[in-house]
Amino acid sequence: MSDCLFCKMVSGEIKPDMVHADTDLIAFRDIHPQAPTHVLIVPRKHIASLDTARPEDAELLGKLLLAAQKIAHQEGIAASGYRTVNNCNADAGQTVFHIHVHLLGGKKLITPFG
Ligand code: 5GP
Ligand code: ZN
Repeated sequence: MSDCLFCKMVSGEIKPDMVHADTDLIAFRDIHPQAPTHVLIVPRKHIASLDTARPEDAELLGKLLLAAQKIAHQEGIAASGYRTVNNCNADAGQTVFHIHVHLLGGKKLITPFG
């Protein structure tokens, strides 16, 4: 997807503050952090949102959460606690339509519900 911001990060055309990269995904710091640690975990494959993910994406979706676990340890926030968030479509506030998981931690987080 040539006009997708996160695809440009996957390709290296745009270089975010990377914290992790492997064959399946990249992870980088959010440009507008909502917590001391705020990392976005993004699959290399372009999937627009959770709503367009397919059964064959199941393993990849699991890898996003396991990457969050790994990065939480790397960031030193695993014991204190962390939150993973996926926003899907407008009412949830999705602004970048390439599926991603937010990893937040490093402070007491207020409830995200409602
Ligand atoms: P969403 O609102 O789609 O769940 O999350 C998109 C996230 O991408 C937002 O938290 C926003 O701050 C972040 N973001 C938008 N543009 C950029 C950018 O150019 N660089 C980085 N690192 N993060 C971005
Ligand atoms: Zn994309």
